[in-house]
Amino acid sequence: MSNFYLNRRALLGLALTSALPVGSVWAAGQPLPVVASFSILQDLTRQVGGDLVSVSPLVGPDGDAHVFEPTPQQARQLQQAKVLVSNGLDFESWMPRLKKAAGFKGQEIVASQGIAVRALPKGQGHDHGHDHGADKAGHDHDHDHDHGHGHNHGPNDPHAWQDVKNAIIYVRNIAKGLATADPANAAQYDKQATQYIARLTALDASLRQRFAAVPAARRTVVSTHDAFGYFAQAYGLRFVPVRGLSTESEPSARDMAALVKQVREERIGAIFLENISDPRLLEQLSRETGAAIGGRLYSDALSPAGGPASTYIDMVEANAATLLKALQAG
Ligand SMILES: [Zn+2]
Repeated sequence: MSNFYLNRRALLGLALTSALPVGSVWAAGQPLPVVASFSILQDLTRQVGGDLVSVSPLVGPDGDAHVFEPTPQQARQLQQAKVLVSNGLDFESWMPRLKKAAGFKGQEIVASQGIAVRALPKGQGHDHGHDHGADKAGHDHDHDHDHGHGHNHGPNDPHAWQDVKNAIIYVRNIAKGLATADPANAAQYDKQATQYIARLTALDASLRQRFAAVPAARRTVVSTHDAFGYFAQAYGLRFVPVRGLSTESEPSARDMAALVKQVREERIGAIFLENISDPRLLEQLSRETGAAIGGRLYSDALSPAGGPASTYIDMVEANAATLLKALQAG
Protein backbone atom coordinates (compact mmCIF):
# COMPACT_ATOMS: atom_id res chain seq x y z
CA MET A 1 0.00 0.00 0.00
CA SER A 2 1.42 3.38 -0.93
CA ASN A 3 1.96 6.31 1.40
CA PHE A 4 -0.77 8.10 -0.43
CA TYR A 5 -3.39 5.66 0.71
CA LEU A 6 -2.04 5.49 4.24
CA ASN A 7 -2.10 9.26 4.51
CA ARG A 8 -5.48 9.47 2.96
CA ARG A 9 -6.86 7.03 5.45
CA ALA A 10 -5.22 8.93 8.29
CA LEU A 11 -6.73 12.19 7.05
CA LEU A 12 -10.18 10.70 6.75
CA GLY A 13 -9.80 9.29 10.24
CA LEU A 14 -8.93 12.71 11.53
CA ALA A 15 -11.96 14.27 9.89
CA LEU A 16 -14.24 11.73 11.51
CA THR A 17 -12.83 11.78 15.02
CA SER A 18 -11.84 15.39 15.58
CA ALA A 19 -14.01 17.32 17.99
CA LEU A 20 -12.32 20.70 17.69
CA PRO A 21 -14.88 23.41 16.98
CA VAL A 22 -13.83 25.35 13.89
CA GLY A 23 -12.64 28.89 14.46
CA SER A 24 -12.54 28.66 18.22
CA VAL A 25 -8.85 29.45 18.61
CA TRP A 26 -8.58 33.05 17.44
CA ALA A 27 -9.00 35.42 20.37
CA ALA A 28 -9.23 39.18 19.89
CA GLY A 29 -5.81 40.80 20.04
CA GLN A 30 -4.06 37.60 18.94
CA PRO A 31 -2.38 37.31 15.52
CA LEU A 32 -4.72 36.01 12.83
CA PRO A 33 -3.93 32.29 12.30
CA VAL A 34 -3.09 31.77 8.62
CA VAL A 35 -1.94 28.67 6.75
CA ALA A 36 -0.05 29.19 3.47
CA SER A 37 0.39 26.26 1.11
CA PHE A 38 4.13 26.81 0.60
CA SER A 39 7.02 28.94 1.81
CA ILE A 40 6.88 31.63 -0.89
CA LEU A 41 3.24 32.42 -0.06
CA GLN A 42 4.12 32.34 3.62
CA ASP A 43 6.59 35.19 3.08
CA LEU A 44 4.25 37.26 0.87
CA THR A 45 1.54 36.91 3.53
CA ARG A 46 3.96 37.87 6.31
CA GLN A 47 5.01 40.97 4.36
CA VAL A 48 1.38 42.09 4.09
CA GLY A 49 0.23 40.96 7.52
CA GLY A 50 3.25 41.80 9.68
CA ASP A 51 2.58 41.30 13.38
CA LEU A 52 -1.15 41.00 12.75
CA VAL A 53 -0.80 37.48 11.35
CA SER A 54 0.83 34.20 12.30
CA VAL A 55 1.53 32.28 9.09
CA SER A 56 2.52 28.61 8.91
CA PRO A 57 3.43 26.91 5.63
CA LEU A 58 2.28 23.41 4.72
CA VAL A 59 5.30 22.86 2.46
CA GLY A 60 8.28 24.46 4.17
CA PRO A 61 11.64 25.85 2.94
CA ASP A 62 13.40 23.70 0.31
CA GLY A 63 10.23 21.55 0.13
CA ASP A 64 8.62 20.28 -3.06
CA ALA A 65 4.89 21.05 -3.25
CA HIS A 66 4.49 18.91 -6.39
CA VAL A 67 4.94 15.67 -4.48
CA PHE A 68 3.71 16.78 -1.06
CA GLU A 69 1.58 14.54 1.13
CA PRO A 70 -0.22 16.31 3.99
CA THR A 71 -0.09 14.80 7.47
CA PRO A 72 -2.99 14.56 9.95
CA GLN A 73 -1.15 17.17 12.04
CA GLN A 74 -1.30 19.60 9.12
CA ALA A 75 -5.00 18.91 8.66
CA ARG A 76 -5.46 19.89 12.30
CA GLN A 77 -3.39 23.03 11.72
CA LEU A 78 -5.60 23.99 8.78
CA GLN A 79 -8.72 23.27 10.81
CA GLN A 80 -7.64 25.89 13.33
CA ALA A 81 -6.71 28.53 10.73
CA LYS A 82 -8.94 31.47 9.87
CA VAL A 83 -7.31 32.01 6.48
CA LEU A 84 -5.80 29.70 3.88
CA VAL A 85 -3.52 31.14 1.18
CA SER A 86 -2.97 28.91 -1.86
CA ASN A 87 -1.39 29.46 -5.26
CA GLY A 88 -4.11 27.91 -7.39
CA LEU A 89 -3.53 26.92 -11.05
CA ASP A 90 -3.48 23.27 -9.93
CA PHE A 91 -0.16 23.72 -8.12
CA GLU A 92 -1.53 22.21 -4.90
CA SER A 93 -3.33 19.21 -6.32
CA TRP A 94 -3.56 17.75 -2.80
CA MET A 95 -5.45 20.76 -1.41
CA PRO A 96 -9.09 19.76 -2.03
CA ARG A 97 -8.53 16.49 -0.15
CA LEU A 98 -6.77 18.28 2.72
CA LYS A 99 -9.47 20.96 3.01
CA LYS A 100 -12.11 18.29 3.16
CA ALA A 101 -10.25 16.32 5.81
CA ALA A 102 -9.77 19.50 7.87
CA GLY A 103 -13.34 20.68 7.39
CA PHE A 104 -11.85 24.09 6.59
CA LYS A 105 -14.49 26.82 6.62
CA GLY A 106 -12.33 29.94 6.84
CA GLN A 107 -11.39 32.57 4.28
CA GLU A 108 -9.57 31.15 1.28
CA ILE A 109 -7.23 33.33 -0.76
CA VAL A 110 -6.20 32.01 -4.17
CA ALA A 111 -3.19 34.24 -4.66
CA SER A 112 -2.80 33.85 -8.43
CA GLN A 113 -6.34 35.01 -9.18
CA GLY A 114 -6.32 37.57 -11.99
CA ILE A 115 -2.84 36.89 -13.41
CA ALA A 116 -2.37 36.25 -17.12
CA VAL A 117 -1.92 32.48 -17.16
CA ARG A 118 1.10 31.35 -19.16
CA ALA A 119 0.13 29.51 -22.29
CA LEU A 120 2.25 26.41 -22.70
CA PRO A 121 4.09 26.47 -26.01
CA LYS A 122 3.51 23.17 -27.78
CA GLY A 123 6.58 20.97 -27.96
CA GLN A 124 8.85 23.33 -26.04
CA GLY A 125 10.34 21.28 -23.27
CA HIS A 126 7.15 19.32 -22.79
CA ASP A 127 7.51 16.57 -25.32
CA HIS A 128 8.59 13.86 -22.91
CA GLY A 129 6.50 10.77 -22.43
CA HIS A 130 5.59 11.75 -18.89
CA ASP A 131 5.02 15.45 -19.10
CA HIS A 132 2.16 17.34 -17.55
CA GLY A 133 1.62 20.13 -19.93
CA ALA A 134 1.53 21.22 -23.50
CA ASP A 135 0.29 18.15 -25.29
CA LYS A 136 -2.64 17.86 -22.99
CA ALA A 137 -3.65 21.49 -22.93
CA GLY A 138 -7.39 21.67 -23.05
CA HIS A 139 -7.81 17.90 -23.13
CA ASP A 140 -8.50 15.27 -20.57
CA HIS A 141 -5.61 15.30 -18.13
CA ASP A 142 -6.88 12.68 -15.82
CA HIS A 143 -5.82 9.35 -17.21
CA ASP A 144 -2.20 8.62 -18.02
CA HIS A 145 0.11 10.54 -15.79
CA ASP A 146 -0.76 9.82 -12.24
CA HIS A 147 2.55 8.53 -10.90
CA GLY A 148 1.24 7.08 -7.69
CA HIS A 149 0.97 10.36 -5.83
CA GLY A 150 -2.74 10.56 -6.38
CA HIS A 151 -2.74 13.86 -8.21
CA ASN A 152 -2.61 15.31 -11.68
CA HIS A 153 -1.64 18.59 -13.23
CA GLY A 154 -3.83 20.73 -15.40
CA PRO A 155 -2.84 22.50 -18.58
CA ASN A 156 -1.72 25.70 -16.81
CA ASP A 157 1.78 26.62 -15.71
CA PRO A 158 1.37 27.22 -11.97
CA HIS A 159 4.77 28.91 -11.33
CA ALA A 160 3.40 32.44 -11.78
CA TRP A 161 5.25 33.88 -8.75
CA GLN A 162 8.51 33.87 -10.71
CA ASP A 163 7.38 37.04 -12.55
CA VAL A 164 7.60 39.86 -10.00
CA LYS A 165 4.65 41.65 -11.65
CA ASN A 166 2.55 38.59 -10.83
CA ALA A 167 3.80 38.64 -7.23
CA ILE A 168 2.32 42.15 -7.01
CA ILE A 169 -1.07 40.71 -8.00
CA TYR A 170 -0.57 37.95 -5.40
CA VAL A 171 0.07 40.61 -2.74
CA ARG A 172 -3.07 42.55 -3.68
CA ASN A 173 -5.16 39.38 -3.43
CA ILE A 174 -3.61 38.51 -0.07
CA ALA A 175 -4.24 42.02 1.31
CA LYS A 176 -7.86 41.90 0.19
CA GLY A 177 -8.39 38.46 1.71
CA LEU A 178 -6.78 39.35 5.04
CA ALA A 179 -8.93 42.50 5.22
CA THR A 180 -12.05 40.40 4.64
CA ALA A 181 -11.10 37.94 7.37
CA ASP A 182 -9.99 40.66 9.80
CA PRO A 183 -11.87 43.86 8.86
CA ALA A 184 -10.75 45.72 12.01
CA ASN A 185 -7.22 45.85 10.60
CA ALA A 186 -8.09 46.41 6.93
CA ALA A 187 -6.33 49.78 6.75
CA GLN A 188 -3.11 48.34 8.17
CA TYR A 189 -3.08 45.45 5.66
CA ASP A 190 -3.63 47.92 2.86
CA LYS A 191 -0.80 50.16 4.06
CA GLN A 192 1.68 47.30 4.46
CA ALA A 193 0.75 45.89 1.05
CA THR A 194 1.30 49.28 -0.59
CA GLN A 195 4.75 49.62 0.97
CA TYR A 196 5.74 46.12 -0.06
CA ILE A 197 4.42 46.59 -3.61
CA ALA A 198 6.70 49.65 -3.95
CA ARG A 199 9.69 47.38 -3.20
CA LEU A 200 8.47 44.75 -5.68
CA THR A 201 8.00 47.39 -8.38
CA ALA A 202 11.60 48.56 -7.91
CA LEU A 203 12.83 44.95 -7.99
CA ASP A 204 10.99 44.27 -11.25
CA ALA A 205 12.46 47.38 -12.91
CA SER A 206 15.95 46.45 -11.76
CA LEU A 207 15.64 42.91 -13.16
CA ARG A 208 14.47 44.19 -16.53
CA GLN A 209 17.41 46.54 -16.72
CA ARG A 210 20.01 43.96 -15.70
CA PHE A 211 18.78 41.16 -17.99
CA ALA A 212 18.47 43.53 -20.95
CA ALA A 213 22.27 43.80 -20.85
CA VAL A 214 22.76 40.04 -21.52
CA PRO A 215 23.67 39.34 -25.19
CA ALA A 216 20.91 37.55 -27.11
CA ALA A 217 23.12 34.55 -27.88
CA ARG A 218 23.62 33.86 -24.17
CA ARG A 219 20.01 33.88 -23.03
CA THR A 220 19.28 30.13 -23.11
CA VAL A 221 19.93 28.01 -20.02
CA VAL A 222 19.01 24.54 -18.77
CA SER A 223 17.08 24.02 -15.52
CA THR A 224 15.65 20.99 -13.73
CA HIS A 225 11.88 21.38 -14.09
CA ASP A 226 9.81 23.91 -15.99
CA ALA A 227 9.44 26.41 -13.15
CA PHE A 228 10.84 29.51 -14.83
CA GLY A 229 8.46 30.04 -17.75
CA TYR A 230 7.00 33.22 -16.26
CA PHE A 231 10.46 34.46 -15.32
CA ALA A 232 11.75 33.79 -18.84
CA GLN A 233 8.76 35.54 -20.38
CA ALA A 234 9.15 38.60 -18.15
CA TYR A 235 12.91 39.05 -18.34
CA GLY A 236 13.74 37.78 -21.82
CA LEU A 237 15.47 34.45 -21.15
CA ARG A 238 14.84 30.93 -22.43
CA PHE A 239 14.85 27.96 -20.07
CA VAL A 240 15.13 24.39 -21.31
CA PRO A 241 13.78 22.12 -18.54
CA VAL A 242 15.05 18.56 -18.12
CA ARG A 243 11.72 17.61 -16.62
CA GLY A 244 8.25 18.90 -17.37
CA LEU A 245 6.08 21.22 -15.35
CA SER A 246 6.12 18.98 -12.32
CA THR A 247 9.06 17.45 -10.48
CA GLU A 248 7.30 14.08 -10.58
CA SER A 249 8.35 12.99 -14.04
CA GLU A 250 11.74 11.50 -14.87
CA PRO A 251 13.26 11.96 -18.32
CA SER A 252 13.92 8.77 -20.26
CA ALA A 253 17.33 7.86 -21.72
CA ARG A 254 16.03 9.12 -25.05
CA ASP A 255 15.02 12.47 -23.51
CA MET A 256 18.49 12.81 -22.04
CA ALA A 257 20.19 12.01 -25.36
CA ALA A 258 18.04 14.65 -27.10
CA LEU A 259 18.94 17.15 -24.41
CA VAL A 260 22.67 16.47 -24.71
CA LYS A 261 22.36 17.08 -28.44
CA GLN A 262 20.40 20.31 -27.92
CA VAL A 263 22.86 21.70 -25.37
CA ARG A 264 25.77 21.00 -27.74
CA GLU A 265 24.07 22.30 -30.89
CA GLU A 266 22.71 25.47 -29.35
CA ARG A 267 25.94 26.00 -27.42
CA ILE A 268 23.98 26.44 -24.19
CA GLY A 269 26.55 27.73 -21.76
CA ALA A 270 25.04 27.12 -18.34
CA ILE A 271 23.01 24.55 -16.45
CA PHE A 272 21.19 25.50 -13.24
CA LEU A 273 20.32 23.22 -10.34
CA GLU A 274 17.29 23.78 -8.09
CA ASN A 275 16.87 23.86 -4.35
CA ILE A 276 13.97 21.39 -4.46
CA SER A 277 15.37 18.82 -6.90
CA ASP A 278 18.00 16.09 -7.00
CA PRO A 279 21.08 17.54 -8.80
CA ARG A 280 22.33 14.25 -10.32
CA LEU A 281 20.58 14.49 -13.70
CA LEU A 282 21.98 17.91 -14.40
CA GLU A 283 25.44 16.98 -13.16
CA GLN A 284 25.36 14.15 -15.68
CA LEU A 285 24.27 16.55 -18.43
CA SER A 286 27.09 18.91 -17.51
CA ARG A 287 29.66 16.10 -17.73
CA GLU A 288 28.35 14.93 -21.09
CA THR A 289 28.14 18.35 -22.73
CA GLY A 290 30.86 20.38 -21.04
CA ALA A 291 28.26 23.07 -20.17
CA ALA A 292 29.08 24.55 -16.77
CA ILE A 293 26.87 24.22 -13.70
CA GLY A 294 25.92 27.87 -13.21
CA GLY A 295 24.67 27.45 -9.65
CA ARG A 296 21.46 26.70 -7.81
CA LEU A 297 18.14 28.44 -8.43
CA TYR A 298 15.22 28.72 -6.01
CA SER A 299 12.18 27.59 -7.96
CA ASP A 300 9.26 26.45 -5.81
CA ALA A 301 10.52 27.12 -2.27
CA LEU A 302 12.51 29.59 -0.20
CA SER A 303 15.71 28.67 1.61
CA PRO A 304 15.52 28.09 5.38
CA ALA A 305 15.87 31.19 7.60
CA GLY A 306 19.43 32.49 7.51
CA GLY A 307 19.93 31.18 3.95
CA PRO A 308 20.38 33.35 0.85
CA ALA A 309 16.70 33.18 -0.17
CA SER A 310 14.65 33.23 3.01
CA THR A 311 12.26 35.90 1.68
CA TYR A 312 10.62 36.29 -1.73
CA ILE A 313 12.66 39.38 -2.60
CA ASP A 314 15.91 37.71 -1.50
CA MET A 315 14.96 34.64 -3.55
CA VAL A 316 14.43 36.67 -6.73
CA GLU A 317 17.66 38.62 -6.10
CA ALA A 318 19.61 35.41 -5.46
CA ASN A 319 18.26 33.79 -8.65
CA ALA A 320 19.02 36.90 -10.71
CA ALA A 321 22.56 37.15 -9.34
CA THR A 322 23.23 33.44 -10.05
CA LEU A 323 21.87 33.69 -13.60
CA LEU A 324 23.63 36.96 -14.45
CA LYS A 325 26.96 35.77 -13.13
CA ALA A 326 26.87 32.65 -15.31
CA LEU A 327 25.43 34.39 -18.39
CA GLN A 328 27.97 37.21 -18.31
CA ALA A 329 30.91 34.91 -17.59
CA GLY A 330 30.89 33.50 -21.10
ZN1 LIG B 1 7.40 23.42 -9.83
